[in-house]
Amino acid sequence: MSETTIRRAGIEDGAVLSHLRDLIEAHHEHLSDARIVVLFRDPPSMSKGKLVLGTARKGTPAERALAAEEPDFVLMLAAGPWRSATVAQRLALLDHELCHCVGDTENGWSMRGHDVEDFTEIIERHGLWKEDLEEFGSAVRQLELPLEEVERRLRAVP
Ligand SMILES: [Zn+2]
Repeated sequence: MSETTIRRAGIEDGAVLSHLRDLIEAHHEHLSDARIVVLFRDPPSMSKGKLVLGTARKGTPAERALAAEEPDFVLMLAAGPWRSATVAQRLALLDHELCHCVGDTENGWSMRGHDVEDFTEIIERHGLWKEDLEEFGSAVRQLELPLEEVERRLRAVP
């Protein structure tokens, strides 16, 4: 069995750090003062039978003691899947992990859980049966663009 390696993100990792900066500026301004360390692990971990693309958590006291920048949050990304992901998928994953990170320097940092957790077959059998699922459903419906917008975008393609 091969050993797990964990290394810190660098410039060779497909602009992960500049993606992170851009996302914080655009959607997570409360994190602009947070010290966030990005790590890559290889091979990826599994959780409940699923490949884990990334995780976010608060920095542990030991990490804060050992690392010069005393990380408030640690993002752990799966190295292999990151390499084969598109830029859009990378941005979505980082944006997702940043959504877990809340708080500020004054009141301290904490973690936030997912808006929605359910099984596809439950949605298929029972629809959007509770409030958080309804909100999720309406967000999905808003993604469906009106026809004129689709045509406008198609014409804009060179
Ligand atoms: Zn998550």
